[in-house]
Amino acid sequence: MKTAWLLRPETVAVHDDPEPRPGPGEVMLRTELAGICGTDVSFYLGHRVVPYPFVLGHEVIGRVAALGDGVTKFMIGQRVLVEPNYPCLSCRLCLSGRGAVCAQKGSPGVNLPGCFSEYFNAPAEFVWLLPDAISGQDAATIEPLAVSQHGFNRSGAKAGDTVAVLGCGVVGLLLIHSAVAAGVRVIAHDRFVNKLEMARSLGAEIPEQNADAAQMWQKENVTCVFECAGSPATVDLAMKAAPRASRVILLGLSSEPATFSPLRLVREGIEIRTSMIYDHPKDFACVIEKVARGVLRPSCVVTHTYPLESLGRALARAGTGEAGKIHIKIP
Ligand SMILES: [Zn+2]
Ligand SMILES: [Zn+2]
Repeated sequence: MKTAWLLRPETVAVHDDPEPRPGPGEVMLRTELAGICGTDVSFYLGHRVVPYPFVLGHEVIGRVAALGDGVTKFMIGQRVLVEPNYPCLSCRLCLSGRGAVCAQKGSPGVNLPGCFSEYFNAPAEFVWLLPDAISGQDAATIEPLAVSQHGFNRSGAKAGDTVAVLGCGVVGLLLIHSAVAAGVRVIAHDRFVNKLEMARSLGAEIPEQNADAAQMWQKENVTCVFECAGSPATVDLAMKAAPRASRVILLGLSSEPATFSPLRLVREGIEIRTSMIYDHPKDFACVIEKVARGVLRPSCVVTHTYPLESLGRALARAGTGEAGKIHIKIP
C-alpha cells in the first residue's frame, strides 16, 4: 500500500509498505479522501515535532476493507468516517463527559500513525457509518465541522444574536457556517481578502477596512467573540475588544503567551471559555445528522484537492494560510 511519510520537516516521501491488518476491535479502511488540518501543517513545518518518519493525517473517509476480532457492527464495503480522537473512556474526565481533554487520548497523525495512506486502522468505537445522502467531500469535512459546531455550542449563542469571528481559516469558516445556519448574525475578521470573501459567501458580514473592532462590536451588540486564528494578536484583540458581558470562546491553538487585563474582564463581566475538539459520541452524531439533512454543507470550505503523491506540495500550500480546506484523494 502507498503511504506518505514525513521524513523530516518539509520532506514527504510516498513509499510502498506492506498492507496492515486490523487489530482486535479495529476496522480497517480502504481510504478514499482525507483532509489536511492545521495540526498536519504544524508538524510538516517543524513547529511541532513527531518521531520521524511519521504518517500524518486524521480527517478521513473510506470503505471498510477488513474487520478485527470482535467487530460486528460493520460490513465490508460500507462507507465510513473516522472520529480521530480516542479518549480512554475510563478515566475521571472521560467518565464525567470531558473525554476531549482526556490525558490518555489517542490521536492519529499526532501520537498514533495517521491516515495519509491507502489503508488505515481505527477502533470500531470511533468509526461512523456514512448515510448515502452525504457526498464524499462533505463527509471528509465533517471532522473540522464538529470542532466548529462544538465551539459554537459552547458559546450559548442563539438565533437573533450577533457574534464576531476572528480568523477565517477552516475552523472559523465552518463556525460561521454553523452560526448562520442557526440564525445567528456573524461579523467576520481576517487578514486575507479571499478568506473574507469566503466568509461573506457563507453569510457573514465583513466590516470596513480599519474599522475599530471594540467600537463596532459594542455598537452591533456582539455577545460572543470566537478566536479561531490562534495568534497572540487575535487573542489580545478578543480580550481587549470584547464588549461588556460578552463571552470570548478560544478555539485557536496558539502556544505564544497572550495578555489580558483582569480588571477589565472582571469589571465588565467578560467570560472566557475554551473549546477543544468535540465530545464523544454526541458531537459526531449531531453533525452527521445535520449534514445528512442538508442543514450544513461543510464542503463549502474545500478549495483544493491533491493526489496522495503530492501531499508535500499540498501541505506547503496549506502552510501559506491562503487556501481553504485541502483534500487528498487516495489512491
Ligand atoms: Zn483536524
Ligand atoms: Zn480518559
